[in-house]
Amino acid sequence: MEVMWGTAYYPEQWDLPTIESDARLMNEAGIRYVRLMEFAWACIEPEEGCFDFALFDKVIAKFAEFGIKSVLGTPSATYPIWLYEKDPSLIQIHPTGINRIFGTRRGACCNAGTYTQAAYKMVEALADHYGKNSNVVGWQIDNELGHEGSDRCVCEHCKREWHQWLQEKFKKIETLNAVWGTTFWGTQYSRFDQIPQPKSEVASMQNPGLILDYYRFCSVSAVRFAQRQLSIIKNRVAPAQWVTTNLYPPPHGVVTDMAELLRGMDFAGFDYYPIWGNMNEPIPYFFWAYVLSYIRGLSAKPDFAILEQFTRIQGHWCLGATVSSKQANLWTSHAIAYGASKIFYFRWRTAALGQEQLCYGILDNDKKSACYESIKENILTKSADYQRFVGTPFPAEACLLYDKDNMRMLRDQYLTEGLLMEPAPFLRTGYDYELVRSFAPFVIYGINADVKSAREVDLAPYKLVSLQLYQLADKDVVQKLAAWVKQGGHLVLGWRTGVRDSENRAIDTAAPGLFSELAGVEVESFESLNKTKVKVKLGLIPAKGENWAEALRLTTARPLAHYNDKKKPYHKQVCVAVNSYGKGKVYYVGTSLNEIGLFFFYRKVLKDAGLKPKFYGKGIEVIKRQDQDGKEISVILNHNPRAKRVKGRRVDAFDMIVTDG
Ligand SMILES: [Zn+2]
Repeated sequence: MEVMWGTAYYPEQWDLPTIESDARLMNEAGIRYVRLMEFAWACIEPEEGCFDFALFDKVIAKFAEFGIKSVLGTPSATYPIWLYEKDPSLIQIHPTGINRIFGTRRGACCNAGTYTQAAYKMVEALADHYGKNSNVVGWQIDNELGHEGSDRCVCEHCKREWHQWLQEKFKKIETLNAVWGTTFWGTQYSRFDQIPQPKSEVASMQNPGLILDYYRFCSVSAVRFAQRQLSIIKNRVAPAQWVTTNLYPPPHGVVTDMAELLRGMDFAGFDYYPIWGNMNEPIPYFFWAYVLSYIRGLSAKPDFAILEQFTRIQGHWCLGATVSSKQANLWTSHAIAYGASKIFYFRWRTAALGQEQLCYGILDNDKKSACYESIKENILTKSADYQRFVGTPFPAEACLLYDKDNMRMLRDQYLTEGLLMEPAPFLRTGYDYELVRSFAPFVIYGINADVKSAREVDLAPYKLVSLQLYQLADKDVVQKLAAWVKQGGHLVLGWRTGVRDSENRAIDTAAPGLFSELAGVEVESFESLNKTKVKVKLGLIPAKGENWAEALRLTTARPLAHYNDKKKPYHKQVCVAVNSYGKGKVYYVGTSLNEIGLFFFYRKVLKDAGLKPKFYGKGIEVIKRQDQDGKEISVILNHNPRAKRVKGRRVDAFDMIVTDG
C-alpha cells in the first residue's frame, strides 16, 4: 500500500490555464489527487433546481489528463443566497444568542426543512452526475460538521424537533420530570412543548438533565443530516467510490458524536492543524498523538485520511508563529505514523480574495515556492519509509477510554476552573486536556495506545486501560471493566469516577459508587482546586495535584501517594491507591497529577501491567508499527529543533526515521 497524496483545490478561484500549470506541478511533486467542491453549492446550483456542472466537468477532466483523480466534497456547509431568501429562518441561532448571518459557513440549521431538503436534492444531483465518473474516486460529506459552534442551535426548527425527540425518549412527561428532577426550582412540566432550550444565562443555569439531553438531541440532528447524505451517495455511486467526512480537533470540544457521524462510512477523515490562528507555538505533539489515536479508533479500519494537512501558516482573522517547512513535514509523518494512509495538503494555493485569504497555501500568487519544494522533497524522499508500514494494523496494548455524555455534562458543569478552557467562544477543551494528561505518559514512554469509547470498546487486546472523568457511570461498562480486570487487566481510574448514573442522577452510595469494590476505596472528602495546586508525595517523589483533590479511605486498596500539604484539612491522607482485584489491579487517582507526578506514577503502572516503558527523551516519539510482512519496526519522530540520538541512530531536527525492531 502507498500513501495517497492529494491537496485541497478550489477551481472556482482560478482559470483553466492556471489549473493546467498547477496540475503539472502537482504531478512533478507526486500529488495525484485533488479534493474539490466542498464550498461550491452556489456554483453548481446557481438557481433552485438548475444544476450546472460545466466548471467541475472541465476541471475533473483537465486534472485527469495529468493522471490526477478527484475527491468531491458535498457543498452543504455553505449555501446559496437564493436558499436563504427563500427561507431566512434556516439560519442557526447559537445558545449565546449571537445571530448568524448569510455569508459565513456552517450557519444553516440541520433541522430546518428548507435547508435539508435542498441539500439532499443537491447531493442527489451531484451523485447522479459523478457517481459513475471513473475520475472521481471518493466523497467527503459536508465540511467539518458541528465545528465553529454549529454543534448547538436553539432556533424554532430545533425547538419543534426537540419536543418530538423528548416525546419519543420519555413517552410520558412524568418520566421526564422524574429523570431530570424538575421539582426543584419548580420546573415541573405538564407537556413536552413547554420545555425550553438551554441558552446562555445571565446567572445560574438550566436543569443539568435538560442540558445533557439537549446536547444528545443536537448530536442526533447532525448525525441524521450526515447519514442521509451518506445513504443518498451510497445508493447512487459506483462501489469503488469511497465516502468519509472531515472531522476536526479537538474531538470532545463539541457535543456532536463523531463516531456516530462516521457510522457506515468507509474510513475516518480528519483535518490536522497542529497550529492555527494567533498561536505563538504549536500545541504539543502528545496532544496530537491523542487526537490522531482517537481518529484511528473511530473506525474498524487501521488507516484513515487526513483531508486537510497543515502546510503553512493558517488563520481566519489573525496569524501567529511561522513554523519551519521541516516541522510541517514532520506533522505529515506524525499523521502517517499514527495510521493515516491518505494525505490531502491544505491548500494548494493561497487565495488572493475571499474568506480564507489568511489560509496560506503550498503556492502563493507567484508559482513555485519554498513550501512546494519542501513538500515535493518530503514525498519523494520519505515515501519508501512510509510504504514500509502504511495501512498495516496498529498494535496497541494500552487504551484510553472516553465517554461523550460525560464530556457533554462537563462542558457546562465544569466542576473546577482548571477544566474551564475556552480557546474560542464556541469551544470547550477541558475534557480533552484532562484526557491528554493520562494519554501523554503512553507517548512519553513509547507505549502504543488506542483511544476508544468506553461503551463500544472491546477490552480483550489491552493490558492497561485508563478511564478519566467518568462521572456518569454506565453499569454495563462497569461490569465489562470488572470482568476484564478479574482476568488480569490493569485499570487506572481518575477522580470523580462513578458519582452519578448514566442519566446524571447522583448515586446514593459513597463515591466511586459502582466502582467502589473494584477500586477498594471510598472518597471521604473532596475539594475543587480551581487554578491552585496541592502538594503530593508519591513515595519519596514530591509532586503536585491540580484541578481537584479527593481524600481516599482505603477499604481493600493499598496507598501509593498522599497529600503533603499542611494547609489542607486532608494533609497526609491518601490520594492515589492500588487495589488487587482477581488477577488484575485497579489504580484510583484522586487528583490530576502534574507532569512529574504522572511521569513517576505511570512508570510504575506501565511496568506493573507488563508493558515496557522507555523514556527516549523530551520531544522524542517511538511508535511501534508492523511492516508489510508483519515484522515489528519503530517509527522514530524527533519533535526537537536539534538532532538527537535515539536507539543508537541519529535523528535530525524535526525528522522521522524508521528502524527494524
Ligand atoms: Zn436549529
